[in-house]
Amino acid sequence: MKEERTAICARTHESTERITVRARGELYESLEQHIVLYKRIATLYSAESLLEACEKLADILSGLCKYRFLKVLLWNSKLNRYDAVMKTGDRDEGAAKRFYCDQALLDWAMESDSASVVPVEDAELIHRDVRSMLLIPVRGRQKALGCVLVWGDLDATESNPLLLQSLDVLSKAFGGIVENISLTQRYQRTANMLDDIIESVPHAVLAVSADDCVIACNRNAEFLFDFKRAFVLGEPLGDILPPKVAAAMEALSIAAISGSEEIDHELDYTLPNEGKITMGISTSRLHDKDGRVRGVLFICRDMTLSREVQKLRELDQMKSEFVHTVSHELKTPLTAIMGGSEILCEDKYQFTEQQGQILDIVVENAYRLKELINDLLDLSRLETGRLSLDCLPCDLGSIASEVACIFAGNKNSCDVTINAPEQIPVINGDPDKLKQVFQNLIGNAVKYSPDGGTVDVSFEWDDKGVAAKVTDHGIGMPGEQLPFIWDKFYRVDSSTTSNIEGTGLGLAIARHIIELHGGTVSVTSEPGCGSTFTFTIPIK
Ligand code: ADP
Repeated sequence: MKEERTAICARTHESTERITVRARGELYESLEQHIVLYKRIATLYSAESLLEACEKLADILSGLCKYRFLKVLLWNSKLNRYDAVMKTGDRDEGAAKRFYCDQALLDWAMESDSASVVPVEDAELIHRDVRSMLLIPVRGRQKALGCVLVWGDLDATESNPLLLQSLDVLSKAFGGIVENISLTQRYQRTANMLDDIIESVPHAVLAVSADDCVIACNRNAEFLFDFKRAFVLGEPLGDILPPKVAAAMEALSIAAISGSEEIDHELDYTLPNEGKITMGISTSRLHDKDGRVRGVLFICRDMTLSREVQKLRELDQMKSEFVHTVSHELKTPLTAIMGGSEILCEDKYQFTEQQGQILDIVVENAYRLKELINDLLDLSRLETGRLSLDCLPCDLGSIASEVACIFAGNKNSCDVTINAPEQIPVINGDPDKLKQVFQNLIGNAVKYSPDGGTVDVSFEWDDKGVAAKVTDHGIGMPGEQLPFIWDKFYRVDSSTTSNIEGTGLGLAIARHIIELHGGTVSVTSEPGCGSTFTFTIPIK
């Protein structure tokens, strides 16, 4: 009995030992598998791009289950759809199309906590031994990011808790990496944009730390101070700038850090090409997001240029004011001269022939002077913005016809034809000013054409605006002169124009008026053949 019990005990011990050894073996095996898996998952973290992370994921999954096709889908919240960021496996085009999952299932899988397996129903796929689809959610720290779909003969997956556990670890690791990569890309984009902004500043930008070492600079700073960015980053100002500039900036930096929010300073500076400029330096403190002062930002610009432009602007303004005042002052005595000479003209019969001729010359020149003064006043009003438009709905055809009548009565004048169909759209404009434009353009066309010539006014239009064209067959102009004829006082210098009177103001006035209406002017011309002046007025 005792022997029997001993034998039973020995057998029991033996089998317990066998079970323990087997269990230990399984445990070791599982541990080993986990270690291998974690080592492989660790490789995911070295991925620098989304594609590289997906490739590593595909590689790890191929060690966990044999698959035929794999797709990584990430949710694109901007476009409200899943983007396939990687597909790998069966290269057969026809088969690849069959690896499909409808959106409802994807939505469900993306939001679920762990991987799931669904049977495949497509007979063609089953025929190819693809019996199931594994859906692995990709979860970020806060939200679901997408789903990894794996097709193969994966029926055993659900009954393999170790595999499901491994997939869970893998899904979390992959989600974290996807999130990190997209964050890095976003930071990179922001950093690039900041670089672009600094580069777009039209002045030299130099950022320095609180101990006056260069943190950042733009290309304009490289040109202005003749250094290369790569060699100056981290270097003290004193080592990279001329002593005078470095000393000025160091002093400005102390002042900025110790309190003054913005300081401007000017100093004479010799450029790398030996040119001399007055350099303006504006300073402001660099704060971090907690408000701590981290350094100083210098913006350096060439003041010489902006000062000259400013001076020219002031001179131009003064000139316009002067012309305006003088013209105005001339008007009063001229009115008296014209009034007096008109009275004398009424009693012309009392004068000798020679006195009568002198009176005619006085009257003619008084009228010319009046026209010149009126042009000068108009131009100075237009240039100084003193002239405003009284806009009404206008028919350009009727305005042109009215102007043509003025020329119709002139002896030896040209024949002015207006081709104005009734359908010309009505524009919003100042009829008096537009009349002046036609007067100047038709007047020129007549003036620069031989006696008895022809001038045509025609119109074109679309839904954006109306174009009026004044065409003559007169003396024309050489192409190289055309860009300048719209400038005030400019007259084409040629033997043919020297005996034609003019002030060189008519086209400048016309251009200003048209531009005030939001339109444009242009001209084509050929010497000896004639010219076409076109202006357009938008339909608002
Ligand atoms: P002006 O009083 O001298 O005519 P504008 O400003 O009207 O002044 O014109 C400037 C110059 O453009 C003119 O002096 C003339 O040389 C040239 N020009 C203008 N219109 C014509 C034209 N239709 N044909 C030839 N030359 C023209």
